[in-house]
Amino acid sequence: MTKKIARFLAEQRPATPCLVMDLDMVADNYRDLRAAVPEAGIYYAIKANPAPEVLALLARLGSNFDTASVNEIDMVLASGAGPERISFGNTIKKQSDIAAAFERGVRLYALDSEGELDKLAAAAPGSKVFCRILTSGAGADWPLSRKFGCDIEMARDLLVAAKDRGVVPHGVSFHVGSQQRDPAQWDAAIAQAAWVFRECEARGVPLAMLNMGGGFPTRYRRDIPGMPAYGAAIRESLSRHFGNRLPEIIVEPGRQMVGDAGIIQTEVVLIARKSRNDARRWVYLDIGKFGGLAETMDEAIQYPIASPRRGKVERVILAGPTCDSADVLYEKADYRLPLDLAVGDKLEIRGAGAYTTTYASVAFNGFEPLKCHCV
Ligand SMILES: *Cc1c(COP(=O)(O)O)cnc(C)c1O
Repeated sequence: MTKKIARFLAEQRPATPCLVMDLDMVADNYRDLRAAVPEAGIYYAIKANPAPEVLALLARLGSNFDTASVNEIDMVLASGAGPERISFGNTIKKQSDIAAAFERGVRLYALDSEGELDKLAAAAPGSKVFCRILTSGAGADWPLSRKFGCDIEMARDLLVAAKDRGVVPHGVSFHVGSQQRDPAQWDAAIAQAAWVFRECEARGVPLAMLNMGGGFPTRYRRDIPGMPAYGAAIRESLSRHFGNRLPEIIVEPGRQMVGDAGIIQTEVVLIARKSRNDARRWVYLDIGKFGGLAETMDEAIQYPIASPRRGKVERVILAGPTCDSADVLYEKADYRLPLDLAVGDKLEIRGAGAYTTTYASVAFNGFEPLKCHCV
């Protein structure tokens, strides 16, 4: 908990649940990444947290933006960044949305299939396109494999074909999986991308850009390597696979930029046991899977949760307030809360700045979407 967040909560006493973001932490995270991979252009993946204050801050700091829809593009434009700082990085786009992005001046697009190349050729002529390749997702707590990317032979063929379709074959992208705790995981993907660069060059289609995606982690319950470890592993891998001919580099951080900058304050709604001698208490909070904590699915992301009480702790099952039995946060993971915890107590869910407000349902059971306050 930063001083600014603590002061805001103490003075404003906002309704819970709410997310409070410390913008100074976001700025620190931007500078950490900048220092770790100084050669890379930073494209913030705005789905992690598109609060207008966060976008305006990053626009001021010089960031570019990775977007997935026309609404996201409009949010970036409203933040003060121009279309030349926007990548339309979703590989699954309606042609009408590509046309709308093109009309707004966006000239950088992702693809991973022939069908998407057809749409880009029709709706975004002359634009730069990059092809996303498959990765294994190994080492990531929130893998993104299978759904996105194509194999490297197909990537080569799509980029070679792009040239004859009136778009500019610009480069290769990948994503090693979100909350990637192993810096060595970039190496295999960089090697595969280098193969696509060589193959395309041999066919008279030189590529210019390598997009290394996101995946940089934030701190939850487990320790993570620092950003310098990621920078060192990536730099070593780039020079091994690309030698002295380094392409233009892009990274698309989401979680790393905003995760540890935010705290969710939640209130204990109910504490119950299911029988007289039930060993574990159920603790029901005013936020659950549908209120923004979707990444607790399969207990994949484990947020640190803190109570101000200092009594003896015991294991609990944590659940949300909705009438859906899927709305259980942690049952297998070892979460402990004080025995003197009481209904009405406030808890802090730490590291909650990424992928929370954007995952909140609009009105499931009438609960309002998660509010975000930036300080
Ligand atoms: C979500 C996303 C990111 C951000 O991923 P993080 O793991 O949060 O860094 C980057 N690139 C693309 C294409 C994405 O979809």
